Amino acid sequence: MTSASGNSTSLEILLSTLKSSHDVQSTLSILQILDELLSAGTFKRICYMISKGGSEALLHTLVNMTRIFPPNYNVLLPLMHLLVKVGQRDKRFGQKAQEIGAINETLNLLRHSIPEPKYVTPCLWVLKICASSVATGAALGKSGLLSLLFKLISPYTTRNTKAIRAATEALSALLKSKWNSRRAVDNGYTHCLLKLYQDWHQGDTRNKYISIHKALLNCIKNITNIQMGKEAFLKVDGMRVLLNTSQACGSSADLQPIVKLATQIIRKCCPKQCLPLLTVRSCYSFVLLNTADSQVLECPSKCPQEDVAVKEDDEEEDDEGSTENEEPGYNEDDDDLETDLKRLRPNPQLDRPVGELTQYERLCPELVGYFQDLDSVSGEQSSGQDNVSCSAFFTTSMPQRHEKPGEWPKDIIEEDFPAPHNSFRYIGPHQMAPASSDSGGESGSKWLMRNYQAPIQDSGRHPERPNGGGTLNPSKHKIKEMHMNMQMASTGSSKISLRFQDLQNVQGQSVAGEECSQLLSQSWTIDRAQKPQDAGRKLSEMLREMIPFHDPYVYTTMAEKTKSATDCKTLAFPDYWGHIAPLYQEPLTGQWCGHLRDKIFEDVRRLVNPGDILNRVIFDIESLSLLPSEEDVSLKFSSNFESGNLRKAIQVRKYEYDLIMNADINTDFQHQWFYFKISGMKAGIPYRFNIINCEKTNSQFNYGMQPVMYSVHEALCGRAHWVRVGSDIYYYKNHYCRASAAARDQKETSYYTLTFTITFLHSKDVCYLAYHYPYTYSTLMTHLQLLEESLNPDQIYFRHQILCSTLGGNKCPVITVTASPGSQPEQLHQFWNRQYVVLTARVHPGESNASWVMKGTLEFLVSNDPIARSLRDSYIFKIIPMLNPDGVINGCHRCSLSGEDLNRQWAEPNRDLHPTIYHTKGLLSYMRSIGKTPLVYCDYHGHSRKKNVFMYGCSLKETLWQARSSIDTTTLKEDIGYRTIPKFLDKISPAFAINRCCFLVQKSREATARVVVWREIGVLRSYTMESTYCGCTQGKYKGLQLGTRELEEMGAKFCAGLLKLKKDEWLCSKQLITEDEGLLDLDNELQNDRHTSHNDMSVDDEPPCPEEIDYYTDNCTEEDDDPIDLATEHNVSSEDELELKK
Ligand SMILES: [Zn+2]
Repeated sequence: MTSASGNSTSLEILLSTLKSSHDVQSTLSILQILDELLSAGTFKRICYMISKGGSEALLHTLVNMTRIFPPNYNVLLPLMHLLVKVGQRDKRFGQKAQEIGAINETLNLLRHSIPEPKYVTPCLWVLKICASSVATGAALGKSGLLSLLFKLISPYTTRNTKAIRAATEALSALLKSKWNSRRAVDNGYTHCLLKLYQDWHQGDTRNKYISIHKALLNCIKNITNIQMGKEAFLKVDGMRVLLNTSQACGSSADLQPIVKLATQIIRKCCPKQCLPLLTVRSCYSFVLLNTADSQVLECPSKCPQEDVAVKEDDEEEDDEGSTENEEPGYNEDDDDLETDLKRLRPNPQLDRPVGELTQYERLCPELVGYFQDLDSVSGEQSSGQDNVSCSAFFTTSMPQRHEKPGEWPKDIIEEDFPAPHNSFRYIGPHQMAPASSDSGGESGSKWLMRNYQAPIQDSGRHPERPNGGGTLNPSKHKIKEMHMNMQMASTGSSKISLRFQDLQNVQGQSVAGEECSQLLSQSWTIDRAQKPQDAGRKLSEMLREMIPFHDPYVYTTMAEKTKSATDCKTLAFPDYWGHIAPLYQEPLTGQWCGHLRDKIFEDVRRLVNPGDILNRVIFDIESLSLLPSEEDVSLKFSSNFESGNLRKAIQVRKYEYDLIMNADINTDFQHQWFYFKISGMKAGIPYRFNIINCEKTNSQFNYGMQPVMYSVHEALCGRAHWVRVGSDIYYYKNHYCRASAAARDQKETSYYTLTFTITFLHSKDVCYLAYHYPYTYSTLMTHLQLLEESLNPDQIYFRHQILCSTLGGNKCPVITVTASPGSQPEQLHQFWNRQYVVLTARVHPGESNASWVMKGTLEFLVSNDPIARSLRDSYIFKIIPMLNPDGVINGCHRCSLSGEDLNRQWAEPNRDLHPTIYHTKGLLSYMRSIGKTPLVYCDYHGHSRKKNVFMYGCSLKETLWQARSSIDTTTLKEDIGYRTIPKFLDKISPAFAINRCCFLVQKSREATARVVVWREIGVLRSYTMESTYCGCTQGKYKGLQLGTRELEEMGAKFCAGLLKLKKDEWLCSKQLITEDEGLLDLDNELQNDRHTSHNDMSVDDEPPCPEEIDYYTDNCTEEDDDPIDLATEHNVSSEDELELKK
């Protein structure tokens, strides 16, 4: 027999003797032995005793001993001491106590002991432990313990604090039962508890009895888990009391647990409110009406909020859960993995008849001419290549160099591109009407009534106008509205109108001396005497030098053609004049520790002291007459420019503003992107901004990211930069929620606040603030035109065509870049054999980073860099740089005008609703149908919750492995070429991180570009490339936020990465490669094919939130009400022992 079993035997004997003993003396002896056993031992020993029936034996003894009258405390006190010691380790203690009938005995004992406080305390501890089982707690409450405890703890006194502490903790345990909580509320205990807490807060100035404060707060916390408890708490002004007491606690470390608890209660009880809007639906609508049969095209009229709005992350997002799960083996997302082998094997197939694909022939002009020539040649002599002359073809198909900047190439004017079949129009906020619509039987009106509750008022803009060109004529309006004509001498053009208010607004400001860049001559003062045009001319001259591929004049002409929901709009200064990346790099800010609670308290204070809050609406897109008068000292806001999306600005305190962003058009969700203008500021004062209708559950703003700002004043000093700004940046759940959720008191649909503080450098400046570096549609069109004009067509074949017209009537460009072929037959043959690379970007309009990456790609591809030359010689690039122009123009974050995420439409794109996707897929299908399936496809995106740049790809085997599929993968063949580019990018691109890449095929992503192009078009290397909005955790840019320069570099490096695919059939000399700063050491790479990544393999992207704010206190939670801490309890017990051994 081992000693263990020997022990067990003796322990069991001891326990059974104890259980049956009715004799005080022998009971006492056994209790002493047990106490010695346990006091020498550890927690393990207690558990062992529990497993041997220790709790039951002690409880039976309690029942036996309480039958002796009068109570013999000589035996009861050591017994209860042991019960507490054992009981708090026994999860079923309360249940056992109830079964054995010890509950009522203890309760009676307590009643007997009341006159002697020293006997009361141990009884209370036992009862507290019994009440840790909710059912037992409820039973105790029903037996009258609730009111008894209440008598023990009130009124406030510092006598018998041990008993008060025990009683308060027992009460807190009891209040976990909803029955008890209801009873407590009915009896008006909420107010008493709050009053007691206040008394302790005021009376216990030396914080000697923190545990009592805490226990009282736990009582309140448990009561407010039920709705009537919350109501009672609010009714007795609990918010104010807890707020004031918490703020009085200051930063004392001892009191932090109390402040934390109070904050939890405050956040939980904060009444849910709807946003201060009539409707959360976008204030612009876009009518989708099929002209052919007057049928309304269905588009999501209602936010599928529960499953999309909140969960829907970026692009190809990972769920937060998966990044937090460190276990590499399995996570919940694995359920989403595709395991159907049929769907995992690329199965190229055309989703439309081949006949329909011929329309895309025009988008491959580089091939058409060749085929024609080939046909004519083969008609005469089969191999008579000598006679082939392609010059004719190329002279006709090369882009016409247009004389005047700003004019569309010929093929654009001809509009030989598919336009959507439907008519449509925007409905702006000025047309919004209350719900009482009187619209009649007309289908369009019905649809409006149903979805927008707004009748069509303007019959002059009937939606059934032919030729889906739309009913907008923004340029005309614009010209009328623009109130200041300005001769742009530098461009030598005729009149252009431009709203030039920004320059006027900074008039009177001296931007002299060293502050000014040399470019602005020695000293430059904008004053009333100086005409804005002069300032403009100077600026134009200055920036022209500094910003390649940008020109304000061309921008204006492009912007005039841009069709948006706002008829009258201005040009944003930064977009008009352009952005120069600053020379320095901006570090991640780290985390703004310590002040989130203060921000939350400030928010709560608004509810508590509504009188202190200004609540002045100073900007409302639906009621522009609210614009403040000139002498108004508040900030002025606007965003009626391209990509702008501010909906409402409310001044809440002198230097604090709540801002609401407009929802994506035709939706009532998607708020993340922001872009607006501020003026009227004072220098040196911290202004707090709160964007109160964010939707994601977390944000990089909590992890070192800052928004971007562009100061007109600074631009005039030669620093025309978007820069990262803001301090005290936090992103947290607020008390606003959707109307439906407010009614149902749901937590999922809460909004989040992004708060940041800006101290402006200059008074009366005009500043633009944005989520990320803006890149508008007009910027793109300007960029494309200037890029094209800069090229030598003898060397570079650059073709700008129109893929199709968007729903909003804008043109979606498609660019072809390759090297112009020579005229020799072998050169032509090589040209014809070049493989295709197809790149797309900006399907999600809020992801402006994708456009900066694309800008880098385009500029690199047409550059003189030897690698670029080599790439042009090897590949034909088809680039659709903006798949969702309408979304970009209208300041949407994720959707198109149909209110849909276009990157979920690739499986079955609708020609009328998703024209850009339909035709991009058509072009890809066409390429496949003529045997020109692209070698690489990549869609550029931005990722809001991760750092670095990385890729998603598609792999059959990796998906099956990750899903732990039972399918035997050894017989499956898969080309691992999909890893080549990311592996290579990891080496050559500082921002890229391969260990963030993922090659799994998820069911939920089956309609994305990446998966459809892989599966249906059969492109092995089909990717989504995600660029962070924030910064890097590895490589050369570790610890830095990414700027436009780094994003553009990423675009260039992506191209360089394609070279890797050419290594086998390398056409150029190796010398060529070495020219580029050893960018590609191919030999090395070949030898070292086993990848060594330059960063660690940690799965988790982020550390925990800067301050753990319990978001999920809405429901009854059991956490945090700690059972008696063994150590503490030991102290307490030993104190008690002193008392009882006196
Ligand atoms: Zn995206």
